[in-house]
Amino acid sequence: MSKLYIVPTPIGNLEDITLRALRILEDVDLVLAEDTRKTGILLKKHSISNKTLSHHKFNEHMFVEQLSERILNGEVMALVSEAGTPGISDPGYLLIRECIRKQVEVECLPGPTAYVPALVASGLPCDRFVFEGFLPQKKGRQKRLNALKEENRTIILYESPHRVSKCLLQLSDTFGKDRPACLARELTKIHEEFIRGTLEEILLRLGEKQPKGECIILVGGK
Ligand code: SAM
Repeated sequence: MSKLYIVPTPIGNLEDITLRALRILEDVDLVLAEDTRKTGILLKKHSISNKTLSHHKFNEHMFVEQLSERILNGEVMALVSEAGTPGISDPGYLLIRECIRKQVEVECLPGPTAYVPALVASGLPCDRFVFEGFLPQKKGRQKRLNALKEENRTIILYESPHRVSKCLLQLSDTFGKDRPACLARELTKIHEEFIRGTLEEILLRLGEKQPKGECIILVGGK
């Protein structure tokens, strides 16, 4: 039966994978992987020896037609990203959209994605929130921040570690230093950490140090 499975994978702790995800990764004809080496480690840990094919942001445009056609013609594939849920600040959207256009069945398994544990444990309201992913790095960044200033739901941002302090400073300048916020770092890993407080307090806690590892910034709504 033709099908594209979207399979979430651990964001740190390799035990965070469902039994169904493991069964599907074993049963499909092909695993499309953003990072074949990392996916290889995960498969090996669970004694799965399936075929993988590289599918990342630099080749997804080129292969979307070919892969969706192969699925339409009967192959069953699983798409995994480097970590978390494919399509969430990761490649996947183009292939998913094309499969749906071709009326190929697409099924996304529930599973790890970094922003959910970050939001829930942040202590900020988690009943209504807006996921912004990565802000534009240069052009349009301040405009986006200005628009978010008026947002009254909790705001979730992905940010690379070497830009976290600068981003917190920009948020503080735009939203005001007293806005409640949280920095969630290295979730599910040994050095998991939550720094909670106002934007000013978090900046003071960080001092001169750039936080290490993967980070999510959460800011309380207006
Ligand atoms: N697909 C992933 C998901 O479902 O969350 C997101 C991938 S995106 C390329 C990588 C970003 O996600 C990192 O820069 C960081 O902001 C966040 N992230 C991923 N894993 C994380 C972790 N273990 N702890 C904190 N943030 C994480």
